[in-house]
Amino acid sequence: MGVKSAPANPAAINIQRSVLVFGGSFDPVHQGHVALVQHFAKLLKVDEVRLIPAGQPWQKGGLKATAEQRIKMLELAFDEQLSVPYSIDQQEIERAAAQIPSYTVDTLTNMRSQWGNAQSNEEIALILLIGADQFHNFATWKNWQQIFKLAHIVVAARPGYSLQLDTLPSEFAALWQQANGAIEDLKQCSFGKTWLETDLAWDISATRIRDELQQQGQTRETTSLIPRKVLDYLQSQGIYN
Ligand code: ATP
Repeated sequence: MGVKSAPANPAAINIQRSVLVFGGSFDPVHQGHVALVQHFAKLLKVDEVRLIPAGQPWQKGGLKATAEQRIKMLELAFDEQLSVPYSIDQQEIERAAAQIPSYTVDTLTNMRSQWGNAQSNEEIALILLIGADQFHNFATWKNWQQIFKLAHIVVAARPGYSLQLDTLPSEFAALWQQANGAIEDLKQCSFGKTWLETDLAWDISATRIRDELQQQGQTRETTSLIPRKVLDYLQSQGIYN
């Protein structure tokens, strides 16, 4: 797919705005998601956060909560939690509802197209945030090489997932290495840099939370892993019972 309005190369320019993009199934959203966005929004001093709930992800089985429920959970989880503006971008859910497969490369391309002409796009840094599990999968994503021309990519360490490049496909490892730099580089250009945050170890996963809720109901552990308002909502809707 042609990227009409993305800048031609990641040469240093005057970045006016940086946007943190964080996608996921959010089935359910958990404290790890909130903590991750808070951490990176502050660390990278972004101006805005876009949360992207996935449609029906092609690499996972079906989702338990509906799209509406996942959006509502995101609203409840992030309400008053960030010091910068955030929005919930529903484009992947809308594409899935129209039975159009949803891919991150299309989402980022759409965002750049929405911003219009090349000049304004050159001034906007898009920073895609993923966890270490998705770092491992990245080379299976549709047109993954193109993502390096649309956004920076930052990876959060996660227990159980190595950040070593030598176990990953060589083309991906080479491109990653070439793009890898200092955190300050993310503010110098609008796309094309990568950065690994190795200092995180939040042992939380939506799969584990779902399993525990299904098997044991709300325990002290699950209630500590899900924002309070989300827990109340889960209960009222009977999701994961
Ligand atoms: P599941 O267990 O079903 O895979 P999840 O906990 O990974 O779910 P998702 O909604 O799939 O939740 O994740 C959204 C994004 O957040 C992904 O990029 C994922 O890697 C990242 N992420 C989720 N939890 C963590 C965590 N504890 N540490 C680091 N990254 C995480």
